Amino acid sequence: MDIIRENKYMWKVEKFKNMKVPVYVLTDSQTIRSQEYHEAIMQLVNVATLPGIVKGSFGMPDIHWGYGFPIGGVAAFDADSGIISPGGVGFDINCGVRIMTTSLEFSEIKDYIDEILTRVYNEIPVGVGSRTNFKLSVKEMKKILNNGVYWAINNNYGLAEDLYNIEDSGKIKYADADFVSDEAIKRGADELGTLGSGNHFIEIQIVEKVFEKENAERYGLFEGQIVYMIHSGSRGLGHQVATDYIKIFRDNLKDWNKKIPDKQLINAPFKSKYGQEYFSAMNAAANFAFVNRQIMGHKIRNIFKDLFDVESKLLYDITHNIAKLEKHNVDGEEKDLIVHRKGATRAFPDQIVLIPGSMGSSSYILLGTEKSMSIAFGSSAHGAGRVLGRRQAKRRLNYKNVLNSMKEKKIKIISKSKNTIVEEAPEVYKDVDSVVDIIEKIGISRKIAKLTPVGVVKG
Ligand code: 5GP
Ligand code: MN
Ligand code: MN
Repeated sequence: MDIIRENKYMWKVEKFKNMKVPVYVLTDSQTIRSQEYHEAIMQLVNVATLPGIVKGSFGMPDIHWGYGFPIGGVAAFDADSGIISPGGVGFDINCGVRIMTTSLEFSEIKDYIDEILTRVYNEIPVGVGSRTNFKLSVKEMKKILNNGVYWAINNNYGLAEDLYNIEDSGKIKYADADFVSDEAIKRGADELGTLGSGNHFIEIQIVEKVFEKENAERYGLFEGQIVYMIHSGSRGLGHQVATDYIKIFRDNLKDWNKKIPDKQLINAPFKSKYGQEYFSAMNAAANFAFVNRQIMGHKIRNIFKDLFDVESKLLYDITHNIAKLEKHNVDGEEKDLIVHRKGATRAFPDQIVLIPGSMGSSSYILLGTEKSMSIAFGSSAHGAGRVLGRRQAKRRLNYKNVLNSMKEKKIKIISKSKNTIVEEAPEVYKDVDSVVDIIEKIGISRKIAKLTPVGVVKG
């Protein structure tokens, strides 16, 4: 396989195996040959063979191996002749990030970080299998799955204005709860408003630097400001939807999937019965995830109100595991596409993009650009990306050292599990500053603000 340099930050695999379109990887010359890229590029090659793929199979600078499609992968399929694949969305449907801003400066809360974290930890269930102490009825669950954050606002979990600041206003219209299994609904019924484990987090951050004063001001961001970030998804419900439809596709679309180069790329024609049913269920799970983050965000908003008498504003909530029906211009022609972004975010012009780094490094607020529309269907990276797997992390790092280095950086941390702290150490992720620099140099998003963590709650 030849990887050729298209330009300074874009690499291309022109033809290999049965690829229908080229593979493009957005990164620099230092990282393109690294191990985690190698596996991920092979996956992008496989994705490039799938029916109806348009323009290219894209890797963002944070790519690494994932189920079927790599994490950090973007692929769009023609809505008429193309496919939809659960592996291109991920098991944690609508895993995503939201950021909320306050009017507080760090100096005003620096003596209260422990108190804030303890309250967050006590009021929001975190960790493996975290549950709420109320169980929603099937009827109520279906309302949530169909109506998304509108349900939350009607039930006093938030302000009406929050809806403007969530991707798709927190409600994807193609959702249909009738295609979500009883088992998935049962799993979600006592998980609404829970963080989950591992990579998911709630973080109190300071705006360390603003890069574009005018844009920062437009979004009410200033240096020294306290903000908080929530990273979570659709919990067991989304996982069950993915599991269910992988099985349904296996049982019913054997012939159709005969030629796929990797069985994890199992898919359905988007326009087929099974394709449409998965799309409806996946979007219902996405709505559940929006509500999940909305409830947690609202609880933390109330904690800040209680402790400091301030309101918090939802700046943005963005998804990074989803397949969306969008119109894009391809070679001068407008087309309906089903854009899979797995571990990748949308980055439409003037839309907020959120790139978390790790519990011990920076995170970024960016803005999408016009240029991103002409590269990878208006997409950007979703994080720094893993370099060390969980097992490798446990072999190479130890709990005490990770905690000490957090202490040295003056970052407080509460976690349910010692393992999480090791598996999520800053060292397991790439350097977020260089990922974001690459993003900006390619031109798919521009930096607005850099954030530093002061307190983290991990699952
Ligand atoms: P994923 O959704 O792929 O698991 O994670 C998205 C990104 O979040 C990761 O690539 C990583 O850069 C970032 N991340 C993981 N844990 C933390 C954390 O505790 N704090 C922050 N700020 N970022 C994190
Ligand atoms: Mn997730
Ligand atoms: Mn995620």
